[in-house]
Amino acid sequence: MSERVIPLVDQRLSALTALLPAHPIAASGLLSDGLGRPLHDLRISVTDRCNFRCNYCMPKEVFDKDYRYLPHGDLLNFEEITRLAKIFVAHGVRKIRLTGGEPLLRKNLEILVELLATIQTPDGTPLDLTLTTNGSLLARKAKSLKDAGLNRVTVSLDGLDDAVFRAMNDVDFPVSDVLEGIAAAKDAGLGLDANGQLTGLKVNMVVKRRTNFDQILPMARHFRGSGITLRFIEYMDVGATNGWRMDDVLPSADVIQHLQQEFPLVALDPSAPGETAQRWGYANASGQFDPSLGEIGVISSVTQAFCRDCNRARLSTEGKLYLCLFASRGYDLRTLLRQSQTNDAELASAIGHIWQQRDDRYSELRASQPSNATPASRRVEMSYIGG
Ligand code: SAM
Ligand code: SF4
Ligand code: SF4
Repeated sequence: MSERVIPLVDQRLSALTALLPAHPIAASGLLSDGLGRPLHDLRISVTDRCNFRCNYCMPKEVFDKDYRYLPHGDLLNFEEITRLAKIFVAHGVRKIRLTGGEPLLRKNLEILVELLATIQTPDGTPLDLTLTTNGSLLARKAKSLKDAGLNRVTVSLDGLDDAVFRAMNDVDFPVSDVLEGIAAAKDAGLGLDANGQLTGLKVNMVVKRRTNFDQILPMARHFRGSGITLRFIEYMDVGATNGWRMDDVLPSADVIQHLQQEFPLVALDPSAPGETAQRWGYANASGQFDPSLGEIGVISSVTQAFCRDCNRARLSTEGKLYLCLFASRGYDLRTLLRQSQTNDAELASAIGHIWQQRDDRYSELRASQPSNATPASRRVEMSYIGG
């Protein structure tokens, strides 16, 4: 019998009202939440649709032909997204990641990238503009995205074996097309830093214990020395539909141990505060990190919660602000945005107020007091809120 949890309530339908606080909160760049965490990273979901049916994210049984996606009129348009993004940047955001669903399915996404790329930060530091994609349309779009001003991309790829990959995306999509997309991104110069070094092109692999464990070493062999950083992600209990069980999670520590059997690795320092991945470098024969071989990352959202440094906000496709991947409700910014009388200072004030109240730390609670964490039936889906 299937163990899937089918949500009884569509969490997308309930929202929290974004209020204008009595005392205005200016966007000074110094915002911090109830636990002292700054606002640095904004993930913007541009569509809730996807052409894959990864069983850990959009299982076919739920996301079938009868599933009701958001109607087009509910989606924020590009001008609305850009207006909000500018306000978030004024509040301190320095990294914007476009996601979904599959972001490359959103028509004319290059136009949004162009608009976002023009945003200036108050202190003149460049905005890090990136995108997470399943790679299926990347071969076609890498160059136009780069030309529009996208800095880098992260491509999700769960294995190199064609049969394993086709089974995991569950739409029989071949691995060769994703590899072509990654090559096109590299050729287009996505992920090149200011010094012309390829530091920003990443591949994310979700590891499920019995599904793609045997792909860990082939993936490491393939990307080692390529300049592309491979990151292993623990399978998370996000959403309500994937039938998550702890037993399916392969802890990152086991991934590292498995890799060490073939490749000596050395722990590296985090490259930025609030970084989700722990970094490991491939070592040379004398046990030192060899930059020419590159690095890998592990994202241990289940076994080592990193809520303490979580500086990420998420803007859903229809303009709700979520403060945690595991939140049950988001704050409705769209209503405020579409009221003709609301000005940017008021929007900034409303966002500031929401962030100041934030005390989310789901993963830490899951580890210490599971009964206080959001129950599965009330969590929103990752394809809706954006990964
Ligand atoms: N469709 C795009 C993609 O797959 O890259 C972007 C959206 S997807 C929701 C963002 C990321 O979330 C992907 O890297 C995906 O593998 C990851 N993801 C989805 N469900 C997950 C889960 N249950 N546990 C861990 N990672 C998950
Ligand atoms: Fe689609 Fe990405 Fe979810 Fe896979 S992980 S179903 S590609 S949104
Ligand atoms: Fe951030 Fe929520 Fe994840 Fe904790 S559980 S790291 S607060 S998104």
